[in-house]
Amino acid sequence: MVKYDTVLIRYGELSTKGKNRRDFITRLFTNIKYMLRDYPALTYRKTYDRIYIKLTDEDPEEIETKLKKVFGISSFSFTEKVNSNLEDIKQACVRIAKESDKKTFKMITKRHDKSFPLKSDGVNRDVAGEILRNTNLKVDVHDPELAIRVEIHSNETYITSSKISGAGGYPAGINGKVLLMLSGGIDSPVAAYQLMKRGLHVEAVHFASPPYTSENAKNKVLELASQVSEYQGHMKVHVVNFTQLQLEIYKHAGDPYAVTLMRRMMFRLADMISKKYGCLAIGTGESVGQVASQTLESINCINTVTNMPILRPLVCYDKIEIIDLARKIGTYETSILPFEDCCTIFDPKNPVTKPSVDKSVYYESKFDYETLLQQAVDTLETVNVQAVKEEDFL
Ligand code: ATP
Ligand code: MG
Repeated sequence: MVKYDTVLIRYGELSTKGKNRRDFITRLFTNIKYMLRDYPALTYRKTYDRIYIKLTDEDPEEIETKLKKVFGISSFSFTEKVNSNLEDIKQACVRIAKESDKKTFKMITKRHDKSFPLKSDGVNRDVAGEILRNTNLKVDVHDPELAIRVEIHSNETYITSSKISGAGGYPAGINGKVLLMLSGGIDSPVAAYQLMKRGLHVEAVHFASPPYTSENAKNKVLELASQVSEYQGHMKVHVVNFTQLQLEIYKHAGDPYAVTLMRRMMFRLADMISKKYGCLAIGTGESVGQVASQTLESINCINTVTNMPILRPLVCYDKIEIIDLARKIGTYETSILPFEDCCTIFDPKNPVTKPSVDKSVYYESKFDYETLLQQAVDTLETVNVQAVKEEDFL
């Protein structure tokens, strides 16, 4: 039986060079080790274009599931490591070929060490000849059922018949910090995932309206944060008491403008909190047209309260696509738990779909919202959530 003893991790075609590339690799290395923290016997090695993990007796399927969650990996393979001589390479490739139940194959050799006596084509030909003599497999260079990859380095060669797609993107945390507005809904946890995939470190803000929203609703949000934090390690969640502002909005603006004003206040708070904690952008789970506050007119009117960049990774996604992603990243089941959030508690019957800035400013002039905003920021509670194990949250 072929024993795959080394995982070989590829970063893909990095456009970054020099220091950026070193930072990328260092961060990726740290993130991989964090993701595999429950497997202390693994040993790691990083080079310019690969990371190697030496396995002992870990379950490859578990390792595969974890590695698929690490952003910055373009692909990875479970490989057999042999010495860099043609005889050992041939034997390992024949072992793989014999064990497979496929009918056609192709050899793909990469020579990282150009001093190896045979060129890649020569290795392909020699090894293929050996496989043809020892098995019933036939060569098919265009559409092979089995692709045997050989990576030759100066001292060791890695052989594999698997190439598993990685999560792509950039290592989480390498591109700076964003403050994500995290609700208990389906969309914003997915937005967190997309932002992390771009290499951003996500910090979250959640607006709660106790006692109208319950402790359970807050815990649901913290659980969602914990689930997505698996992709970056840990996550800070700033929980803001939004009750007073919301009551004032209702008192002074009435039904149609309540949501618009509420969201303008949310963005003002997010702006203040971003500046306080060094975040360079605000993230949301908005998608154009989904609800009244997400028409282009609404987005415009709400956006005028801040000059910060607003990152909306789901802006053009359909709900179905967002739900598929939520299922994939494991947040969907928690998101659909029926706890109230601060928007549903004062659910207006006729929200405006084309709000105007002038009217918003008029309603806002009726109360001293600046003091309330400052109070909300001064009294926020910061929770640092850690990733929990998958079996604990489903
Ligand atoms: P979600 O499923 O993410 O709740 P949604 O479709 O329900 O989104 P809205 O309720 O209009 O849409 O919210 C749009 C975005 O505003 C959310 O994706 C989130 O980024 C932010 N948001 C809404 N409510 C809150 C809240 N209570 N705390 C923090 N952010 C919020
Ligand atoms: Mg919502």
